[in-house]
Amino acid sequence: MKKNISVLLALLLFAVCALPTLAARESESFGAYEHVFIIGVDGAGGFFKQADTPAFDRIFASGAVNYAARAETVTISAENWGAILCGVSSFTHGIDNGLAASVERSGEVACPTVFSLARKAFPNAELASYVNWEPINHGIIESDIGVLKETRDTDEEVTDAICDYFNGGAKPTLFFVQLDSVDHAGHEYGCESEEYIKQIEIVDGLIGRIYDAISDNGLMENGLFIVTSDHGHTPHGGHGGTSRTESEVTVAAAGGTIVSGGVLDKDTRNRDVAAIALYALGLERPAHMTARIPAELFQNTEGEKRSAGKDIRELIALGLPAIAPVSWSGFTPALYVTALACGLAVLLFAAATAIRAAMKKRGALGLLVFLLVLLSAVTGTYASRLFIIWDNLLLYAVIDAIFLLCVSGVIMCAAYAYRGFAFRGAKRTACTAVLSLFLAAEPYEIVVLAINTLIHHGTRPTYSITLSAFVQMALVAAALLVTMRSLRSKNK
Ligand SMILES: [Zn+2]
Repeated sequence: MKKNISVLLALLLFAVCALPTLAARESESFGAYEHVFIIGVDGAGGFFKQADTPAFDRIFASGAVNYAARAETVTISAENWGAILCGVSSFTHGIDNGLAASVERSGEVACPTVFSLARKAFPNAELASYVNWEPINHGIIESDIGVLKETRDTDEEVTDAICDYFNGGAKPTLFFVQLDSVDHAGHEYGCESEEYIKQIEIVDGLIGRIYDAISDNGLMENGLFIVTSDHGHTPHGGHGGTSRTESEVTVAAAGGTIVSGGVLDKDTRNRDVAAIALYALGLERPAHMTARIPAELFQNTEGEKRSAGKDIRELIALGLPAIAPVSWSGFTPALYVTALACGLAVLLFAAATAIRAAMKKRGALGLLVFLLVLLSAVTGTYASRLFIIWDNLLLYAVIDAIFLLCVSGVIMCAAYAYRGFAFRGAKRTACTAVLSLFLAAEPYEIVVLAINTLIHHGTRPTYSITLSAFVQMALVAAALLVTMRSLRSKNK
C-alpha cells in the first residue's frame, strides 16, 4: 500500500513537472490555425528588403521576417521547392529540375510533402497549389492526394485565378503559390539590376492582391500567411552556387500568434516552412524531417534544435565545405582569390624546381614537383570556379584552360628533368596519352556546361562542374601515377 502511494506520488510529481513542457509544446500556436498560405516567389532571395514593397510591409507589419534565411546548398529551384514542401534537404528528397519536370510524384514516397501529411490528417480538407512553374505541381506535390493543382502562364494570370478561387468561397486548409517572373528578371538582368528589383515590386502588388482576397473572405482570422523564396541570383544573373546573393532567402510569416517584429533566428532555412506549416495546423512532424521551428516566430514558443538528419551528403555539405568544389563548398570569393593566388604560387615554384632539377640532374626533386603540381591543380580547380561565381563563363574557361596547360607543361618538364628518365617508346606513348586525356577534360567540361545550361532552367550546371572537377583531379593523379611507374621501371 505504502509502495502504491509512493508510486502515485511519483507519478503526480512527474505530471506536475511535465506540465510546463507540455504547455510549451502545445502553446497557443500549435494547431492554432485552420489555414496556412505559403506564397513562394521564385528567385527573389532576400531582395524584398531592397525593393519598395508596400504590400509586403503592410502584411508583415506585425509579423516576423528574416531576409537572410538559408536556401539549400544547391541553389536550384526544384531542390529548394522540394525542401520547402518536404521539410528535408535537397540531398534527402533527391528531386532536381529535370526529375520534377519529367517524373510525376505519386504513391508512397520517402519524403512526403506537407500536402500529403495534411491529407492524411484531414481526409476532407481542401488543398490547393497555384503555380507558374509547372514542375512543382507535376513532380514535387504528389498527384494522388486530392490537391487542386492549377498552372498559369504568367504571374498575373496565377493571381487572377487565385482571386477567383477565394472570391468563389474556397477555404483551403493548405494553400501554395509559386510566382516565377522575378526569377526570369534575375536570369536576364542579375540581382543588382533595376529591372530585377522592379519585378519584385510588381510581384509585391500581386502578393497584396492574393492577401486581400484571402483576408476579405475572412480566412486570415485563423490563417497563417507565409512568404518565402527558393534562391536568389548572382549580380549578373543565374544561381546554383553558394554565394550570398544566391543562397540568402526570405522567410516571412503573419498570423494571430506570430511574434510582432520577430526576426527568426540565424539558423532559419527555407525548408523550415514545412515545419512551420505543420505546427500551425497542429500536425506532428515525421521523424525524418530536418525542418524545425525557428526562434522569434511563434509567441511563447522557443526555437528548436535542428535534427542532424541521416543523409551523409548533407553532413558533408554542412560540415566539410573545403573538400568539395563550388556546389557544396560555401566558399566565398575572397577564399577563391586566395586559392587562385596559392595555386599560381605553387605552380611557379613547381616550374622553378623542375628547371633546377633539370640543370642539376637531381632526381628527388622530380617527385616533389609532381606533388606540388597535384596540389596546384586542386587549388587551381577551385580558383577557376571563382569566375563561375562571378558568372563569367568565358573568363572561367580561358583561365581554366591556361591553368591546365601550365600544369601539363610542368608535368612534362618535371618528367624530362628527372635524372635518368627515358622519355621514349611505350613510356612516352603512355605519358602523352594521359596528358592528352588531361587536356581533353577541358572541352569535355565546356560541352557539359553548355548541355546543362540548356537543360537546367537556364541555371548553372552545379553537378557537372563538380563531376568535371573530380575528373580533372583524377586525370592529374593518373598522370602522376603513370610517370612514377615509368620512373620506377627505369630505376630497376
Ligand atoms: Zn528558382
